[in-house]
Amino acid sequence: MKRREFVIALTGLFAAHRAAEAANPADPVKIEKVVLADEEWKKRLSPEAYRVLRHEDTERPGSSPLNAEKRKGYFACAGCDLPLFLSETKYESGTGWPSFYAFIPGRLATKTDFKLVLPRTEYHCARCEGHQGHVFDDGPKPTGKRYCNNGVALKFVPA
Ligand SMILES: [Zn+2]
Repeated sequence: MKRREFVIALTGLFAAHRAAEAANPADPVKIEKVVLADEEWKKRLSPEAYRVLRHEDTERPGSSPLNAEKRKGYFACAGCDLPLFLSETKYESGTGWPSFYAFIPGRLATKTDFKLVLPRTEYHCARCEGHQGHVFDDGPKPTGKRYCNNGVALKFVPA
């Protein structure tokens, strides 16, 4: 191989490598907030996803096809496509909701809600603030956390 061809081949290799890195759902990203009017969300989302994401509704347990999702990949916010959970952190909690013991750092924010009288920690997408679920302290190792998520608020992207 001539030197020039070699340099071109090498450049191509690095470009491919960079593209692969950028495609990693857990790579740090700058969170630019997605802010839309309630009416706009209503138009974009299914009625079920709209009620959960924008008005903190809770889907019926056992109703999400994502309960049975065991493939490798990631779970993104159904409102804005931000990757929130990796498939490696999903586990069977027996609750009827997709459950995870960890989220991709920086992708969720929390607040305390009092809807069931006792305070619970609500969490939502850091980008569009769409409600995802509640976090509890009875999860498995290594975190001991259980992120109890509405399946309708997520979309699964296979690896
Ligand atoms: Zn979102």
